[in-house]
Amino acid sequence: MHEVLRGIGVSPGAVAGPVVRLAPPPPDPPEGGVVEDPGGEAARAEAALADVAAFLRARGAAAGGAAADVLDAQAMMAEDIELHERVAALVAGGRTAARAVHEGLLGYAEVLRGLGGYLAERVADLDDIRSRAVALLTGGRMPGVPVLDQPSVLVARDLAPADTATLCPDRVLGFVTELGGPTSHTAILAKQLGIPAVVGCPAAAGLREGAHVVVDGTAGEITVDPPRDVLDRVAARSASRAAVPDSTGPGRTADGAPVALLVNVGAVADAQAAAAVPSEGVGLFRTEVLYLGRGSAPSVQEQVEAYRAVFDAFAGRKVVIRTLDAGADKPLPFVGHAEEANPALGVRGLRLARRRPELLADQLTAIAQAASGCGADVWVMAPMVSTPAEAEQFADQARSLGLATVGAMVEVPAAAMRAAQLLERCDFASIGTNDLAQYAFAADRTESALADLLDVWQPALLDLVAAVADGGRRTGRPVGVCGEAAGDPLLALVLAGLGVTSLSMAPACLPAVRHALATHTVDECRGMAKAAREADDAAAARESVRRLASPRLLDVL
Ligand code: PEP
Ligand code: MG
Repeated sequence: MHEVLRGIGVSPGAVAGPVVRLAPPPPDPPEGGVVEDPGGEAARAEAALADVAAFLRARGAAAGGAAADVLDAQAMMAEDIELHERVAALVAGGRTAARAVHEGLLGYAEVLRGLGGYLAERVADLDDIRSRAVALLTGGRMPGVPVLDQPSVLVARDLAPADTATLCPDRVLGFVTELGGPTSHTAILAKQLGIPAVVGCPAAAGLREGAHVVVDGTAGEITVDPPRDVLDRVAARSASRAAVPDSTGPGRTADGAPVALLVNVGAVADAQAAAAVPSEGVGLFRTEVLYLGRGSAPSVQEQVEAYRAVFDAFAGRKVVIRTLDAGADKPLPFVGHAEEANPALGVRGLRLARRRPELLADQLTAIAQAASGCGADVWVMAPMVSTPAEAEQFADQARSLGLATVGAMVEVPAAAMRAAQLLERCDFASIGTNDLAQYAFAADRTESALADLLDVWQPALLDLVAAVADGGRRTGRPVGVCGEAAGDPLLALVLAGLGVTSLSMAPACLPAVRHALATHTVDECRGMAKAAREADDAAAARESVRRLASPRLLDVL
């Protein structure tokens, strides 16, 4: 009898293959022991941390793109001065190098865990540094992804960015982790690589090396020892996906109604690859990646060059660039975020301009300079706009610098409810469903235990999207969706039926969404939107839309 394990599907598609488990972390170095040469021991600890930092940087350089930024940020954690001082003090107190590194990093992780949110998710990065450094100091095997001699499904307690960043999609068919939430690095990188993935699956601890499994990243399921019919379905889905017929050209429903299909871009280095995917441009350029792991904001000139590189990569197309979204799940130490009891409800996103107006002023100046004379159609928008007055102030500031098309992200329920008034003050709205779900359900988006509340099929979330689309219709302004919801082909039909005019997603999600639109008429999309909103809960909404979808689409999901 086969077994089905459930987790959170974070990267769509289904694959079948044998399990390969990540090399386990080394055992904890023992307490006690005699340290005869504290100076030499301290130097060994220093050297191990430096070697780990160099290893992470080399892996990042080999992988390139967003991976390089992620691994650089992790390398900086291994080089953190306070960490080194903590380790030196532990050696001075009589610990061996291995034990001091172990305790020093555990202490650091405890601090981050206490801070919660995005910082707590970085604990996996610290655990990874600890395992690697302790392995170096105790002569153990470096933990991490082993060399794979056949295509396999990678299973781990958690995957550090160093592991996910260098996965080769040809050899790694998919992955499964016990921990991790829907917005972890692992989830975002998995989507970028186009590898099906399920995270937050505690039962994966029991998966044995070599077991045959099917990973369904769409449904969030792992089938152990799958029967023939399940394997046949996976093979048929892969064949249908590969043969998706409408994989170029603008987004259109079967009866020709346009729904623009755009890609989300994080790191500047990813822009070239994203530009090669047929799309109508960028619907969300997350600029905060440029600010990550730095002691101060990038200069205006540095920003101009970075933004220009993305605009040039998308010459002839549209690029929606978002101003800095720092705070809560995306803290930037140099900003000097104040101690806040509830950072997600605090001074984040556009609100940061209340405290650090020069950051927004410099960034808009840089965007305006980079946009001037470039070949792309540059639109600019602010994150976390809450009121029409905030939208107006942002629009005035951006327009005064020569930026012609200015919009507001709708991520706060208050903004959704007053969308028409917001849209009277700016040119477009873009709905961030990741945050809109978090705020509508009062559920921390990084908390995997609340994944059911954060399900983008929640009818109440769809009601809010409908309110924004309605505001767009009343004002004649475009309303896009750029949160993760836009990349779900079935939900994309619902969003189109609600009146959303563009969908922006990870590039790997785009062909299936294009195919979904091309196989349904606007009226069918409207029928699906109605059915989803009439459902009692997320599961019922998804199921009722599935029942209305064309078999040609269900084949490729
Ligand atoms: C969102 O909140 O849906 C969004 C697109 O922004 P981010 O995920 O970067 O917060
Ligand atoms: Mg957001």
